[in-house]
Amino acid sequence: MRVDMHNHTVRCNHAEGTIEEYIERAIELGVNIYGFSEHAPMDFDPKYRLSFDEMAEYESEIRSAKAKYQDQIDIRLGYEVDYLPNHMDERVLNAKVDYLIGSVHFIDKWGFDNPEFIGEYESRDIDEIWREYFQAIEDMAKSGYFDVVGHLDLIKVFKYLPKAPIEEIAQPALEAIKQAGMVLEINPAGLRKPIGEQYPARNLLIMAKELGIEITFGSDAHAIEQVGFKYDEVVALAQEIGFERVVVFKDRQKEFYSL
Ligand SMILES: [Zn+2]
Ligand SMILES: [Zn+2]
Repeated sequence: MRVDMHNHTVRCNHAEGTIEEYIERAIELGVNIYGFSEHAPMDFDPKYRLSFDEMAEYESEIRSAKAKYQDQIDIRLGYEVDYLPNHMDERVLNAKVDYLIGSVHFIDKWGFDNPEFIGEYESRDIDEIWREYFQAIEDMAKSGYFDVVGHLDLIKVFKYLPKAPIEEIAQPALEAIKQAGMVLEINPAGLRKPIGEQYPARNLLIMAKELGIEITFGSDAHAIEQVGFKYDEVVALAQEIGFERVVVFKDRQKEFYSL
């Protein structure tokens, strides 16, 4: 079963390609279940996401595409939602979709994965930054709002690594993810970033496996050619670690398939 649950479209203003182009590429690659998870609206950082006014249109476009391609591929509808306290919105959290990916892209108001603001890494204690990031992941899991954890260790993107062991920093967040029944996404986008490694790192995946956390896959495609990028590589890694099944969502409910 080939699944790919994390994909964007032009609507977030930093991706290229139409819904149909993404779907046709996924069909070409033999994807069975393909999900759109556009950056959900938020009253902060509005430039890099769709607007609240566009939600209905986005959702109906995906549903139409789902019907149109139903004989060739199973399309799912979701959002990638920023976990940012005081900026969570019921319209997104209660949207009638198949799943919500919860992602942390901001520590307070710092967009730490945006190269524009990379200077901040040098001006603060790196261990503190990592602890704050994983505290946000833990809080996100405890919020109970989301189904999937997006790119668990995104904070490594520019290769500013902590002095303290990452396993120790991430442990409470992983326990909260298990407790919340959230599913961990294996996301190869990090392989095209300075860190040169999928999210999450191998050692964190091993910890997740030991805790009994389930996984899914998402390209995090922002361009057609990124659909399926390094898919076989990350599936092989998951299998080698011992994962035997992959989870997808329909109407916020889990479905399990063997890897
Ligand atoms: Zn994006
Ligand atoms: Zn993201």
